[in-house]
Amino acid sequence: MGQQISRRLFLKGGLATAAGLAASSIPGTAAAVKPDEAKQLVTLLDIRKCIGCEACVEACSEVNFGKYPDPQKPFPKMYPDRVPVEDWSEKKDVNDHLTPYNWLFVQHAEVEIDGEETELTIPRRCMHCVNPPCVKLCPWGAAKQLENGISRIDSDICLGGSKCRKVCPWHIPQRQTGTGLYLDLMPSMAGNGVMYKCDRCYNRLADGEVPACIEACPEDVQTIGPRDEIIKKAHALADEINGYIYGENENGGTNTIYVSPVPFEELNKAIEKGKGKPHLKPVEDTMAQANNLAAAMFVAPIAGIAAAVGKFYKRTK
Ligand code: SF4
Ligand code: SF4
Ligand code: SF4
Repeated sequence: MGQQISRRLFLKGGLATAAGLAASSIPGTAAAVKPDEAKQLVTLLDIRKCIGCEACVEACSEVNFGKYPDPQKPFPKMYPDRVPVEDWSEKKDVNDHLTPYNWLFVQHAEVEIDGEETELTIPRRCMHCVNPPCVKLCPWGAAKQLENGISRIDSDICLGGSKCRKVCPWHIPQRQTGTGLYLDLMPSMAGNGVMYKCDRCYNRLADGEVPACIEACPEDVQTIGPRDEIIKKAHALADEINGYIYGENENGGTNTIYVSPVPFEELNKAIEKGKGKPHLKPVEDTMAQANNLAAAMFVAPIAGIAAAVGKFYKRTK
């Protein structure tokens, strides 16, 4: 009953107030403008060093446990029923691909180095694109990019419509049904949950700590730092080992740079791919495409209002 009253009051008066507040702070077409790369933090991953111990995967779960979904069951029936239920709540221990309860996993690739069969292991998670389509094209303003380049999905605002996963070249975000704002606003009509992915431990970074996966790694596979510094390090390392770089230019540039002793085409052929198992193919700059630029300019003001409305609703609950 409490929820019904609060929803009615919200729809009657609060919506207009929140929309008004939001309209006064909309950044125009800023969503279509490329962010300031100099302020972004980048992680460099030296694939040669990774021993596949998964200490990073465990650390990620431990530290981010409180951010994981706690869905209500039974799930409301969806109309249209083509919006699939995605329920990982009984499979929280799955850690061989990305799920709402597993934001980092280790991929395996059997390759040949200097004539010897070698297994390489590759930690995979969100790439934190410099100009992220998941953020720029989220119609509800639930996905955001921080000044330091972190992209994160606000689970208080996300309706789980999965636009972010569709536009992400690696299809990183994963949905959990039965949780989030859609249950209060339109439980049968839209969304169907909340999308989850690595948020680069944004709260730890804000407190002056490094992301948990970096801290836990016994082999110092990852290095984090300002973009220009890390790009230089990546090139120096690639020159030193006669290696290859992935992420500097993919999707117009990402804030995750891999350096590998073998070409990424070979790694991409050798890894398992599929749902929650991202590829390592070359990726063109998605946000440079005219239709996405136009969509971002269209979505920006609507997303600004939707995000403010979502926050206002949460406060009135
Ligand atoms: S890799 Fe995908 S989810 Fe991550 S920032 Fe880029 S577009 Fe968004
Ligand atoms: S940066 Fe944080 S959230 Fe992302 S994979 Fe590492 S530990 Fe997990
Ligand atoms: S903790 Fe380090 S060495 Fe172990 S799997 Fe993760 S990145 Fe690789």
